[in-house]
Amino acid sequence: MDPRLVRIQPTDNVAIVVDPEGLPAATTLADGLVLREAVPQSHKVALQDIAEGAPVLRYGTPIAVATRDIRRGSWVREDLLTIPPAPDLDELPLATAVPPSQPPLEGFTFDGYPNADGTVGTRNILGLTTTVQCVVPTVEFATERIRRELLSRYPGVDDVVALGHSYGCGVAIDAPAAAVPIRTVRNLAFNPNLGGETLVVSLGCEKLEPDRLFPSGGGCARGGDNLVRLQDEQHHGFTEMVAAIMEAAEKKLSVLDRRRRVTRPASDLVVGLQCGGSDAFSGVTANPAVGHATDLLVRAGASVLFSEVTEVRDASHLLTPRCCNEDVARAFIREMRWFDDYLRLGGVDRAANTTPGNKRGGLANIVEKAMGSVAKSGTSALRAVTAPGERVKTKGLVFAATPASDFICGTLQLAAGMNVHLFTTGQGTPYGLAMAPVIKIASRTSLARRWPDLIDVDAGRIATGEATIESVGRELFELILEVAGGRHRPCAEKLRLHNPLALFNPGPVT
Ligand code: CA
Repeated sequence: MDPRLVRIQPTDNVAIVVDPEGLPAATTLADGLVLREAVPQSHKVALQDIAEGAPVLRYGTPIAVATRDIRRGSWVREDLLTIPPAPDLDELPLATAVPPSQPPLEGFTFDGYPNADGTVGTRNILGLTTTVQCVVPTVEFATERIRRELLSRYPGVDDVVALGHSYGCGVAIDAPAAAVPIRTVRNLAFNPNLGGETLVVSLGCEKLEPDRLFPSGGGCARGGDNLVRLQDEQHHGFTEMVAAIMEAAEKKLSVLDRRRRVTRPASDLVVGLQCGGSDAFSGVTANPAVGHATDLLVRAGASVLFSEVTEVRDASHLLTPRCCNEDVARAFIREMRWFDDYLRLGGVDRAANTTPGNKRGGLANIVEKAMGSVAKSGTSALRAVTAPGERVKTKGLVFAATPASDFICGTLQLAAGMNVHLFTTGQGTPYGLAMAPVIKIASRTSLARRWPDLIDVDAGRIATGEATIESVGRELFELILEVAGGRHRPCAEKLRLHNPLALFNPGPVT
């Protein structure tokens, strides 16, 4: 392969190195550019002289400002750059460039499990909700026994999962911010893959009482077969608590076992998008391919959730014009502002997001990372914005506000009603979720080859010219339907890689 750089927009004054081993000093590139020094893979090369104080342009956007003169052919390292300020939330254009709807895609289906509330599952899982962390080890103990001793009698049920978390007591339960973890725990129980048959396990003395968790009863009505309270006097010791959970679980298993997959339109998909361990390729390969899949899903009528506030904050000025109306744009700004304030209280700002791995992967700062991250959102109009832990009911592209933490974002997207998860990665992570299938997409071919049993799709082929953004996006769209219908199990699901749920609790603990 000839030495290769990728420039994203014609106006960019930097490009990134594709070659897996990087490029040595004095390499001559196709347009006569000669490297002044060695540049590692996925790091930036100056395509022209950049003067001190001038912007470094990638994605057609200033991602940084040069702190000294950078000569053409130099490695544009992080220590030569400063971060520009985030877009001013008071100056953003509201719904000024709403993309027109693309022609609908019809006839795409998957075999899913319809639920009474209108949602559709892609898996058939028994969930055991916990009201408080005190009960989690007991519920996990019972879950292990249910899996070993009961599950084989109910072949229509895919799995049993303990919805463990670290909330429920020792917290300021009436603090305004407590609404976030409480509605997350509640809405997790309503995830379409749990079939409305969630069993609730409570301790008895906790602040997050079952009535508070499910004030209207919901799909997890109070009492009776739906609730096991460990402190109830009828349980003599641990053995009887576990037996009570198993007995209640078996009733749920027999109901879930009768669920059957039926052909459903692709519009019943709720696909959550996330990235983790990004590099400078993420915004060139994996995220734009996911963006194309997003456009196809939106055209097929599905809901697509993109999230990770700190990774969209610096692209706010590109997203508010795309909102379908001014109210949606204001809701987007509300979520950005809330998070700015949250970070400020912690004495940091959005720049706290980037990791050492991001930087080794060539991402100079959060602006560059964000510009690559928002490529996942594709090109369609933004139809709705939801606050952390809320359920999503809108079709089309939705901004579901979450922190960028992989585990918190995944948990909040499950609470939003996600039934398939797409996860792009540059550095690589063996991430997985118990409640929904996770399809992992590598930004570089070298990672896909090194981790063939963890990566489902190699988007690195886009950088080497073996595939296009559109072809990988289409491949992903078709894979999502296969995975949703249970005909294909992605790597993390086959290996049962289940990261624990992680709640977002912005409120005080006591
Ligand atoms: Ca993430």
